[in-house]
Amino acid sequence: MQYVDLHLHTTASDGVMSPSEIVRYAKAKGLQAIAITDHDTIEGLEEGLSEGERIDFEVIPGIEISAEHSPGSMHLLGFFLDIHHPLLIDRLGYLQKARAERNPKIVERLNRIGIQLTYEEVLKASGGGQVGRPHFAQVLLEKN
Ligand SMILES: [Zn+2]
Repeated sequence: MQYVDLHLHTTASDGVMSPSEIVRYAKAKGLQAIAITDHDTIEGLEEGLSEGERIDFEVIPGIEISAEHSPGSMHLLGFFLDIHHPLLIDRLGYLQKARAERNPKIVERLNRIGIQLTYEEVLKASGGGQVGRPHFAQVLLEKN
């Protein structure tokens, strides 16, 4: 029996391993292939794909896109992306802008209910990648 994992996040969004690390880890664990599917970004794909090529391991360029759909929201997984497609790059820029506008609002809401945390602390927790809810959780945990 051989296994694949088609839903992995890297440090390009809210994962804990860099794209190269996750590719090496998956191979070491005996998987046959993986898809890197970061939240609303393809930033980690170039690195993940080239590491896969280097160690002869199949990496599928993917993404996880947040979509609003009444009555809530959903996450769509996409696979086999053309990471240089201009329309894809343009639309992702739009999603990243929406995310950048959402995050300070989460800080405001937390502050309003008496939880002290700053956006700088959350940015630091993200390590320079895309900021997501797990980074807020990490700062909250650090502050008990
Ligand atoms: Zn996910």
